[in-house]
Amino acid sequence: MTLGNDPSLADADPEIHGLIALEERRQHDTLRLIPSENYASRAVLEASGSVLNNKYSEGYPHKRYYQGQEHIDAIEELAKTRLCELFGTDHANVQCYSGSPANLAVYVAFMKPGDKTLGLGLPAGGHLTHGWKVSVTGKYYDAIQYGVRADDHRIDFDEIATLAREHRPKLIWAGTTAYPRVLDYDRFAEIAREVGAVLVADIAHISGLIAGGAHPSPVGKAEVITSTTHKTLRGPRGGMILCDAAHQKKIDRAVFPGLQGGPHNSAIAGLAVAAKEASTDGFKAYAKAVVDNARTLAEGMLSRGIALSTGGTDTHLILADLTPKGVPGKPAAIALEKAGIVTNYNSVPFDTRQPFDPSGIRIGTPAITSRGMGAAEMKRLADWIADVIENVEDEAKLARIAAEVKELCDQFPAPGLPV
Ligand SMILES: *Cc1c(COP(=O)(O)O)cnc(C)c1O
Repeated sequence: MTLGNDPSLADADPEIHGLIALEERRQHDTLRLIPSENYASRAVLEASGSVLNNKYSEGYPHKRYYQGQEHIDAIEELAKTRLCELFGTDHANVQCYSGSPANLAVYVAFMKPGDKTLGLGLPAGGHLTHGWKVSVTGKYYDAIQYGVRADDHRIDFDEIATLAREHRPKLIWAGTTAYPRVLDYDRFAEIAREVGAVLVADIAHISGLIAGGAHPSPVGKAEVITSTTHKTLRGPRGGMILCDAAHQKKIDRAVFPGLQGGPHNSAIAGLAVAAKEASTDGFKAYAKAVVDNARTLAEGMLSRGIALSTGGTDTHLILADLTPKGVPGKPAAIALEKAGIVTNYNSVPFDTRQPFDPSGIRIGTPAITSRGMGAAEMKRLADWIADVIENVEDEAKLARIAAEVKELCDQFPAPGLPV
């Protein structure tokens, strides 16, 4: 097959083009409440879908194994400088393919197989890569897991201190994927210092909130910080590691050549753009609005009798326990999707149900806040969610809500989507 005429995607592959168009529609017509998702700006999407895709750049700026890097070096340096300024760190590694490989690079940097690590267990809201048993991080390393308290679902620092003193782990992970409260990095740091562990803050979910000043920063407390770049930070899909100068060499060597080959230059350019966007006053207002919206939505849900893990939120995330409503998480999530409200079913701490059909749903406000929605929309949304949960089998009602949802979505165009 010759490629001489270079047709557009629509001509070259109508099937994929059509499916992307349908996904654009879906992202426009629904209230996307999965807390790890967002809308990247058109500028971020343009940079990440560029000819940078074509370049190989193993190594780091000015120390590459391939020629032709003058522009690539400039792009990677801009990404690093902007992120260091944004977060106030000495060093940024922007080459990680995603959040999970960024975390694996930290293990590679500090640990040998069999060494001990301490992280929040998955059922309590931790991430797979913090040592959960099905993850390679729980198989290659001796992973000890802490949890949350049974009474209030808050992180149990007494348990962390006890486990840290008993096991003397090399790494302690402070980071969550389904936990609705601010993390106390001072307490984590105190425990890590006492036992000589490296404190790693995994800010994958909250990096945008931290950049925008809506969540405390772990900088100066955790020696190493990992993150995704596509969640609240609204960048391209990717991962990054921030650290102080003392750990720079170890981290860089772990990422390349320890774990990865050539960096994804298109993602790095997208990240540079996202870092620039995140340094604006507009982004600060966005981060604050994400949290304000989550609080308003949580209050609305509570007032409709939906139970929330920890009783509420002070981040972008809400973990609802539907047990008092008599509906498990999965049928609720399916009914919500029929009503145009996209969430994910999720275990709640001390869940008595199985992970594939747990008691809860996980909800986040980053994406709907990127569309400019505010308090009035959150109140409507809380009522829709409660109406769906109370009527999961009433197809006519779900369809009626879906139509109202679409009408609301039409009033709030999303960044990055064609108008
Ligand atoms: C999302 C997430 C990750 C993993 O990111 P991927 O890009 O999906 O690999 C790691 N840690 C935490 C806390 C996360 O929420």
